[in-house]
Amino acid sequence: MLELHRNLIDGEWVGTDAVENINPSNVNDVVGVYARASEEDTKRAIAAAKAAFPAWSRTGILDRHAILRKTADEILARKQELGELLSREEGKSLPEGIGEVTRAGQIFDFFAGEVLRLAGEILPSVRPGLGVEITREPLGVIGIITPWNFPIAIPSWKIAPALAYGNTVVVKPADLVPGSTWAIVDILARAGLPKGVLNLVMGRGSVVGQTMVDSKDVTAISFTGSVATGRRIAAASIEHNRKFQLEMGGKNPTVVLDDADLKVAVESVAQSAFFSTGQRCTATSRVIVTEGIHDEFVKALAERTRNLRVGDALDKDTEIGPVVDPSQLSQDIDYIEIGKAEGARLVSGGERVKRNNEGYFLQPALFTEATNAMRIAREEIFGPVAAVIRVKDYEEALITANDTDFGLSAGIVTTSLKYATHFKRNSEAGMVMVNVPTAGVDFHVPFGGRKGSSYGPREQGKYAAEFFTVVKTSYTLAG
Ligand code: NAD
Repeated sequence: MLELHRNLIDGEWVGTDAVENINPSNVNDVVGVYARASEEDTKRAIAAAKAAFPAWSRTGILDRHAILRKTADEILARKQELGELLSREEGKSLPEGIGEVTRAGQIFDFFAGEVLRLAGEILPSVRPGLGVEITREPLGVIGIITPWNFPIAIPSWKIAPALAYGNTVVVKPADLVPGSTWAIVDILARAGLPKGVLNLVMGRGSVVGQTMVDSKDVTAISFTGSVATGRRIAAASIEHNRKFQLEMGGKNPTVVLDDADLKVAVESVAQSAFFSTGQRCTATSRVIVTEGIHDEFVKALAERTRNLRVGDALDKDTEIGPVVDPSQLSQDIDYIEIGKAEGARLVSGGERVKRNNEGYFLQPALFTEATNAMRIAREEIFGPVAAVIRVKDYEEALITANDTDFGLSAGIVTTSLKYATHFKRNSEAGMVMVNVPTAGVDFHVPFGGRKGSSYGPREQGKYAAEFFTVVKTSYTLAG
């Protein structure tokens, strides 16, 4: 019998209604059994977070610092074990899983430091004899709703700043991957968080997520996930006059110019398009290539794509793990069919792969002769599928790169300082990469996009304070 992992509500581990967490590399492997919260459980979690807020918001900064530091230390000490858990439940390769866990530890460490660094401002007033102070205060109860593709990093980069700045939290991980979030909540609870400060409610978006969104006691919502869910959360949040932050989809371009270093271009695109099975919001899915290098680049990239080793996430030879579940797999396959029907040329991959285990394995798919008007170039696929679009020159490449409803990440591969500088200045994405993959970012600097990709203040680094605090301006008559 597998141990039941329960929800954490008001300091108690509770819940009996449970589901199995299935390994996408091997559907016969049950990663664990996890409770599913009801509407009633979720309401109790919100009430507990509300009740815990006044005391927690006034806790000494050294206490908050110590809890976050202790959490960081335990996550980092257990990175191998937690990396295996993550790779088993989500399917990214073990080095990627361990890398993500390491990042979660670094995030808690960073925000442990931020607790001690939160500063305000003191200004002279325009009125003689008055002083003005600008301070930052916690908001209240933060509802955190996360997707399946970064099961430990995304919950960490929301929970850590929320707690660091004195808020209380109700967190709901994606139903597909509750294990990694359960593990960090368990670590935080043992690190000394008072009851009710952090509550975990695992379960369905339509039940648990919707109850959080509908509650007037959730002061702010930090969400990462699809555009459709994000829009629903935005509409409900406006009704409640509530602060919200949305990180959503992407259709990220990498531009490859004639003067690019071919090896850098191929590796950069293969990494960003196909690693983590293409299931990253920052993945490259449009490869915009100028005429002079086009044929040579496509030949080399097709070769690299063909040779990518797809397999069990825990196998040491695996470069690309499985797709996360059957519904994402059928979405990927549907888009591969759509690409062919639209007239793009499938030059590599795109077929199911058989391995010893029964899992959702798909050889990464590379299309050429695509146009930016095709659905495979406009809609987020969220799988290992990329389309090469041929353009005449840099100017056409820039216009094509910006011609999208999204704006999360954009890359350019070039040896020209002139084009690199121009691209950094004129790309309409929130994050721009020169000669590095569009996916893969640092934990101590802001993360976020523009246009349809994001809404609200940036996440991560010291910029996280923008969302997780509210500014107060106080005037004092000095006498
Ligand atoms: P999703 O929108 O289906 O689910 C995200 C979360 O919202 C889950 O926890 C889900 O249970 C919950 N949810 C669903 N319905 C809800 C409702 N009615 N009310 C409240 N919560 C609800 O997204 P997903 O399939 O888990 O994740 C994939 C998407 O996430 C992709 O579009 C990807 O681009 C995006 N993503 C974006 C970023 C970024 O930073 N921009 C990062 C990672 C993933």
